[in-house]
Amino acid sequence: MNIDYLLNELPDHVSPADREMVKRAYRVAEKAHRKQKRSSGEPYINHCLAVAGILQELGAPLPAVVAGILHDTVEDTNVSLEAIRRDFGDEVADLVDGVTKLTQLPRVSHTGKRSKDPLATKGELAKETLRKTFLAMGDDVRVVVIKLADRLHNMRTLSHLPLEKQKRIAEETLEIFAPLANRLGIWQMKWELEDLGFRYVKPDEYKAIASNLAERRVDREKTLDSITDTLRQVLHEAGIDAEVTGRPKHLYSIYRKMERKGVPFEGVYDVRGVRIQVAEETHCYLALGVIHNRWKPVPGAFDDYIATPKDNFYQSLHTAVIYDDGKTLEVQIRTPEMHENAEYGIAAHWRYKEGRRKEDSFERRVMWLRRLMEWRSDVDDAGDFVDAMKSDVFNDRVYVFTPKGDIIDLPAGSTPIDFAYHIHTAVGHTCRGAKVNGKLVSLDTKLQTGDAVEILTAKRGGPSRDWLNPTLEMVRSQRARSKIRQWFRRQDREQNVSHGRLLLERELRRLGLEKIAYESVSKDLGFTQVDDLLAAIGCGDLSLSRIVASVIPEETSDLDETLIAETGAEPTRVSDEISVLGLTGVLTRLARCCNPAPGDPIVGYITRGRGATIHRQDCPNILRVKDRERVVQVSWGKAQQTYPVSVRIRAYDRDGLMRDVSTLVTNEGINMSSIQVTTKNSLAIFDVVMAIKNVAQLSRVLNRLEALPNVLEARRLPPG
Ligand code: MN
Repeated sequence: MNIDYLLNELPDHVSPADREMVKRAYRVAEKAHRKQKRSSGEPYINHCLAVAGILQELGAPLPAVVAGILHDTVEDTNVSLEAIRRDFGDEVADLVDGVTKLTQLPRVSHTGKRSKDPLATKGELAKETLRKTFLAMGDDVRVVVIKLADRLHNMRTLSHLPLEKQKRIAEETLEIFAPLANRLGIWQMKWELEDLGFRYVKPDEYKAIASNLAERRVDREKTLDSITDTLRQVLHEAGIDAEVTGRPKHLYSIYRKMERKGVPFEGVYDVRGVRIQVAEETHCYLALGVIHNRWKPVPGAFDDYIATPKDNFYQSLHTAVIYDDGKTLEVQIRTPEMHENAEYGIAAHWRYKEGRRKEDSFERRVMWLRRLMEWRSDVDDAGDFVDAMKSDVFNDRVYVFTPKGDIIDLPAGSTPIDFAYHIHTAVGHTCRGAKVNGKLVSLDTKLQTGDAVEILTAKRGGPSRDWLNPTLEMVRSQRARSKIRQWFRRQDREQNVSHGRLLLERELRRLGLEKIAYESVSKDLGFTQVDDLLAAIGCGDLSLSRIVASVIPEETSDLDETLIAETGAEPTRVSDEISVLGLTGVLTRLARCCNPAPGDPIVGYITRGRGATIHRQDCPNILRVKDRERVVQVSWGKAQQTYPVSVRIRAYDRDGLMRDVSTLVTNEGINMSSIQVTTKNSLAIFDVVMAIKNVAQLSRVLNRLEALPNVLEARRLPPG
């Protein structure tokens, strides 16, 4: 790397003045470092230029590239920060200052306070340093990216340092800088830092894997070529244009897999990976379907990181299939944009600048994480901070803490169960209780940003079937839901059948629909036997709400008739919503000349640009209209009909129970026409008449009522 090469590589849009600034930075740094040499014997300035070069390749903005050249001047030479500020302006000076301060952070050292478990201490220190690094970012994530570029070049030239120094720096790289690159989503830096770190921390293991890889390289490339050709072909036949490439294997990830699974090189190496790029997000799912159709998917290997991105905002579909040769093939599917994000993370939006919408939400998220960590060290401001965060733009996610202080990112509305499954599937399965900020909470508690969550687990056992009941809202994330289903699917069939029967019986009884024959339900839903239906319910594959919906396909069918017969509810009323030629939602206006009221026979008159004006059919104005084509058929919409349904709730009486019941019912948008409460001993019985729209709504409100503390049962009262 020399200065001319760097200048040459700068994008065309960089102005002559900015190019001049790069040259000037070079002159300043070259002069300041002139007497210094790298351990390799090279002039020190080569390191400065190399760091700037890495930043330039990442697409970092020009001030960051300039700061890259100057990054060691304040720290290591007699150039002052004031001089930099005078000559290069505030932006560059602040970046250099930030990098200098980062360098002065306490390093991970083993001389810190020791706990009994030295590994735990090391981990804690790494986390502490990571946290401080985020703090030191100031308002600018570019500082950390410059620091990462610095570290990357130091790792690339590590062989010139004494052995023991190599090891220390490499360890620090694995513990702090690679995870940091990962947090920022800069995959390219992450894997290079990891592989270099691995090489110096575990040289023997590194060499073994490297030579194993080299031996098989030719074979491997041939196989991968044929696989990618086949995939491209299969997708092409399905009408999907895709770019298919073999996924590079990184040494450290192979090593970690070997360690994790306790298998030799061959066990990991056999797994081939390909990456598919398609133009649009919807094509990702199409491609997935095509591949799953052609090859058998490996159970449990599918992950949808498009719908649920990883903590560092990584998006892709992941799956694994059994390929033609009987061996596993791992597949990642993504769009080019997701790919850019995956490879460059936080740096991706710099690269987008030309012609694309600026993506500063990404930077804001990192900012936000940083502030979150800052707040953790200064609990006094907790209230203000959380309040500020509530109004923040990240309403779709909540950020919560593990007991160790790690940040976990979950979809808004997540519960401790989601959290538990996020930590580990086994933690999810055995989750029995949770503490939020040190207090015991129920498992359906909605987690809030900033909560510290601790999961209480049982030694054995599995998830509860209630977790899958959507009306209870105990699980929010798709991942947790599918893990729970998987667990039940693996239970034996008999158990699933009997559980399913129990659930279905209870539900139908509660809804007052005992007379419905299981045979017809199971046939309607495409099951050959009732037991299959019951097993599907039991393992959670089929929700009761689907059954309820299939039993009563439309709002106005059998059940409503039974309701009408029972209650004598009035037939359909009309609302003031109007449908034009059978379409609702068309802009309409009631004519002032005849003022039609709901129930009147009406017609519509199409106006220019203002939808339809509604007249009574006998309105003199409409009768006089010559342009009959503009007169259209309209009708009053049907109002949502409701039926009075008697519900009985049995509960152990407690303070506030009555209030909870009525709040819940009101929140469901249901009117109550009467409540009677009788209390015997400590048992309370509420007889409530609710205005119910349909069975699905009834089912939902009963479920939710039963989930209230102390409620034993909520069910529809039998007629009469
Ligand atoms: Mn440096």
